[in-house]
Parts: sequence; C-alpha cells; structure tokens
Amino acid sequence: MKAELTNKFLEKYGQEPTAHYFTPGRVNLIGEHIDYNGGLVMPCAVTLGTWLLMAPNNDNVIRFKSINFEEEATIELKSAYEKTGPEWFNYPLGVFNEILKKHTLPTGLDLLFYGNIPIGSGLSSSASIEVAMAYALNDYFKLGYEKIELPLLAQKVENEFIGVNCGIMDQFAVAFGETDKAIVLNCDNLKYKIVDCNLGDYSLAIINTNKPRKLAESKYNERVAECQTALAQLNQEIKLHNLCELNAEKFALHSHLITDESVLRRATHVIKENDRVNHAAKALNEGNLTEFGRLMYASHQSLKDLYEVTGAELDAVVDFCKDYEHVIGARMTGAGFGGCAIALLKKGQEEDFAKQLTDYYVERIGYPAAIYISEIGNGSSRI
Ligand code: ADP
Ligand code: MG
Repeated sequence: MKAELTNKFLEKYGQEPTAHYFTPGRVNLIGEHIDYNGGLVMPCAVTLGTWLLMAPNNDNVIRFKSINFEEEATIELKSAYEKTGPEWFNYPLGVFNEILKKHTLPTGLDLLFYGNIPIGSGLSSSASIEVAMAYALNDYFKLGYEKIELPLLAQKVENEFIGVNCGIMDQFAVAFGETDKAIVLNCDNLKYKIVDCNLGDYSLAIINTNKPRKLAESKYNERVAECQTALAQLNQEIKLHNLCELNAEKFALHSHLITDESVLRRATHVIKENDRVNHAAKALNEGNLTEFGRLMYASHQSLKDLYEVTGAELDAVVDFCKDYEHVIGARMTGAGFGGCAIALLKKGQEEDFAKQLTDYYVERIGYPAAIYISEIGNGSSRI
C-alpha cells in the first residue's frame, strides 16, 4: 500500500512524499448509546483506516487531494480558516485552523489522503482523517502536543468547525488504539484502561449494511432526549449527573419514577448495557471469548427490543450470524438505523461467511451488504 500511494503522490504532485502516516478507523465492541449517558464504552482501532502522505512546498499553500474524492483544494497558508462548504477537505482544514491558532508553520504542504475504510458508515472515517491530520502536523513540525491533546483537538474540530456534535470516543479510539487491545473508556471522566483483547482464532468481520442512514440523526436526538427525561424523573428522588451512575439494583429501586413506558425501556437498556461492558471486560481478562460473544448478542438484542435502534438490515446480519456456526458473537456498532455490524468470525471462514451472508442478506433485504475483515490494530503512527 505504501509504495502504491507513494506513486500516486508522485503522479499528483511531481515530487516524492517526505512522510507517510496511518490512522485507523474504529469499532465499538460493546457499550452502545452509552457515551452520552456518562457510562463505559469499549472501542478498538481496526486495521482499516486513512493514509496521509505529505511533502513541504515553497508556495505557501496547503494542497488537499484525496483518492476517495474528486474535489481538490489549494488554500493559502493563513492563521485562521472558516468552513467553506460541505467538501471533505474541511475536515483537515479544521485541524489546520485549530493548530494555526497557536503555531506558525515554516512551509506550505502538499497532502494526499486515502481511506480504505467505508466512508459515512459509522466506522468513523471522520475521526480518522481529523486525527491523521493532527497527528501528522504534530509529528512533522514537532509542535509538542501531548498525545491526549490530539483527540481532544480533533473532537473540537468535528464539533465546532464541521458542526457534528460527537463525543470523544471515536477520536480517542483511533489515536490510542493498540493491536489486540480494547479501550474501556469512561465517558463521564475520560479515565480509560487498555485491556487485552486477543481474538485468537477469530477475526473481526465488519458488515456494512449499505443502508442509507436517513433517519439516524433525528432518531438519535430522540434517544438522547428520552434519556434526559429518564434522568430528570429519577432525580426527583436521587441526585444523578448521568444515568450510568446507577447499577441495575439501584435502578430497580427508583425506576417506578419513570412514567413513560418507552422511556423506561430506553433507560433499562442504558443501565444493563453499562453493566455488560463491565462483564465484557472481565470476560476478556479471563480470555473467555465465548462469553464475550454472548454479551455481544445480548447487547444487540437490547438495542433491538429496548432501545429500538437496529432496523431490518442490522437485524438480518445478526440473525444470520446467530445461525452461522463459525461466528461466536455479533452486534450492531455505532448509532444504528443502518451503518455497520461486527462479528467475531473464525479465521479461515471468511470466504464462506461472505458468500452465505450475501445470499441471505440479498434475499431478505434486496441488495447486498459489504463485508470487510479486520484485526484489532494500532492507533495513529508514522509508517
Ligand atoms: P463516518 O465518520 O461514519 O465515516 P462521517 O459522515 O462522520 O462518516 O464522515 C465522513 C466524511 O469524512 C466524508 O464525507 C469526508 O468528508 C471525510 N473523509 C473521511 N475519509 C476521507 C478520505 N479518505 N478522504 C477525504 N475525506 C474523507
Ligand atoms: Mg463520523
């Protein structure tokens, strides 16, 4: 890949790149719709992601090109920028905007991006390209940012420059991921633990439902509001900042305060899912992948029945996995209503899995899903 991309760079810019970087995408292994309730999530970096090649130029401009998109841009090096429209280069431009508030760069840059991660499918290609840019500038110009500052900077770009109100999980996972490790991140205080997640004979299959995520945003906001309602009603008796401060036992003592039946189901998912993350971390610690897989299925079931964010496409994938003997766990990952599912798939079964799942999915849904095989990989690095 590196050599191929180097040639592309040479072709596009007429000079060799002087640095190559890679930043992965991420999946959330378990702990869904938990981040905005101050609980635990368990993301990991994948081996699909975004490459960034660069070289300095003497023209005092930043040139943005991506193999994934046709639009290109040449933008003068200044001390501040505003978002120029919906084009992709606003993601890295937002990173320049943040960094140039504090630093001046000695030269312009020619940049080439390439992502082999499905874009716009919930594997966080956006966090990947933002952190890729931040990591590269920090490394190349020795700007002195601490490692923890880069995902925070990238999140700020996504929130303020791009205008997408995401939490910290994605940027954190793509910056901090490690091979065969998962991150248990407390979304309330950002404390985190890196835990062993050796998948042994299993790979991470990532199944993109290819369903347009039209409903996703409005439904997502609806779920956030329902959790806020549950929190307000519980706070008539107790004092909580977040739903995830309650475990299942304590929740049972106060859940009668929640008046609306569907709000009660949402809150029940949140409390139990948060518990499941603790159990999942314990299972990994004991090397018990079978239990981990069982918890993945339980998570999906809860997201289907209690949280109602799965939909026919994600359910079709997980239903197939339950009956497929070489998968030990599967669930939707990300916000839901489409996007991707993940499955723990026995190594060596990739082709058969892809073929059988494709037949099943097309029959049930009417169009194919896309299947990617990944390992748990490293966070941002110079390659
Ligand atoms: P997701 O993060 O789920 O993949 P988003 O809609 O949040 O989806 O972010 C996708 C956007 O990020 C793309 O539309 C594009 O603007 C930008 N992006 C991601 N990867 C690349 C890439 N390799 N090249 C150019 N832009 C990219
Ligand atoms: Mg995104």
